[in-house]
Amino acid sequence: MEFQFSERVNTAVQMISEFVEKELIPLEPELFAVGFDRMMPKIREKQKKVREMGLWAPCFPKELGGLGLKVAEFAPISEALARSPLGHFTFWCQAPDAGNVEILHKYGTPEQQKKYLAPLIAGEIRSCFSMTEPELPGSNPVMLATTARKDGSDYVIDGQKWFTSSADGAEFAIVMAVTNPENPPHLRASMILVPVNNPGFNRVRNISVMGHSGSGFASHSEVLYQSCRVPQSNRLGGEGMGFVIAQDRLGPGRIHHCMRWLGISRRALDLLCERANSRKIDEEGRTLASRQVIQHWVAESEAEIIAARLMTLYTAWKIDTEGTKAARNEISAIKFLVANTMQKVVDRALQVHGALGISDDTILSYYWRHERASRIYDGADEVHKTSLGKRLLDSHRKAKA
Ligand SMILES: Cc1cc2nc3c(=O)[nH]c(=O)nc-3n(C[C@H](O)[C@H](O)[C@H](O)COP(=O)(O)OP(=O)(O)OC[C@H]3O[C@@H](n4cnc5c(N)ncnc54)[C@H](O)[C@@H]3O)c2cc1C
Repeated sequence: MEFQFSERVNTAVQMISEFVEKELIPLEPELFAVGFDRMMPKIREKQKKVREMGLWAPCFPKELGGLGLKVAEFAPISEALARSPLGHFTFWCQAPDAGNVEILHKYGTPEQQKKYLAPLIAGEIRSCFSMTEPELPGSNPVMLATTARKDGSDYVIDGQKWFTSSADGAEFAIVMAVTNPENPPHLRASMILVPVNNPGFNRVRNISVMGHSGSGFASHSEVLYQSCRVPQSNRLGGEGMGFVIAQDRLGPGRIHHCMRWLGISRRALDLLCERANSRKIDEEGRTLASRQVIQHWVAESEAEIIAARLMTLYTAWKIDTEGTKAARNEISAIKFLVANTMQKVVDRALQVHGALGISDDTILSYYWRHERASRIYDGADEVHKTSLGKRLLDSHRKAKA
């Protein structure tokens, strides 16, 4: 494995780091005060600058106007973007749009690509992905109650979804619905494109998460599909292929999250150090940094971030060289390891800040609220541990047989 990034990647990382520091971090206090939607005019201004820098949508292939980077090359870029919650969105490589771009690129018909993919890459519209249902376990997603019934040349979709992230203000949803109930579980559902102005698409509410309902891109909606009629030509890929396509979306999606969490961990540790070095705790003028417990937290955080980063880069390298399927054990391992590393580091940073840490005067309380979900979405910790442990035990048993 090569530890050196190319000059092109290093230059992009440097440009992005400076941009995030100078242009985005100063916007954060206003973001926390007014919410995402009301920040859009300012974000649009910054996005114009990003396009002028030639760094728009860096995670996408060249033919889609991106930088055509390998997964391992995108890792340091994603880390740099993650220093601000505005980073990925401003540079246009945010979930859930990035995943939807990937599957529309791979499975979309020319008509679907013209209507949905082209404006999505251009940043003219947003999208969402609607799979999880409140009444059934998202951890076992083959259990779906939402159906898409054929009627003439249409599908009629009925069902209840929730945690459809970024549905508020999106132009279309990619909905997972059962089209072939007679098939084996993994071949029952299809992905269907639904414009949100369809009268059968009803966004009920932005779900309140840790006291905040969010707005626009930064929200998670409950959606009712009620006799939602769309042409069958809106199906993405083959009938019953929804879970096959979902796998394509989830593998890269998980490592992208890990890269982002590394950037968050690094910023939290920087804040921890800054506070520890400046907060005086006795009349002799000694700072928190003079205390061994704080020194240990810094050391442990640094070691854990380096370990998580190396594992993520190794996984990225394995995906680049052997493919997502070959790297599935590593993807499962980093999914829970990096999420927990980030939470530990954010927690230590918050603790070092005392009351300031839980106030909204630093970014730490925002991280605390928003990133707790990292251990739940895209596979809860326990689910990844179970499948990784099971696969390892199986291969051990087979090797001994
Ligand atoms: C912030 C956020 C954003 C999201 N965005 C989207 C989105 O855009 N689109 C979308 O469709 N969904 C989205 N989701 C939903 C997400 O995919 C699900 O929450 C996730 O799959 C878990 O499903 P669940 O919530 O139904 O929990 P359940 O499946 O009910 O599981 C609850 C808990 O039980 C435990 N558990 C479950 N199964 C097992 C097992 N086999 N062994 C041991 N323990 C187990 C785990 O601890 C798990 O956390 C989002 C969720 C969050 C929190």
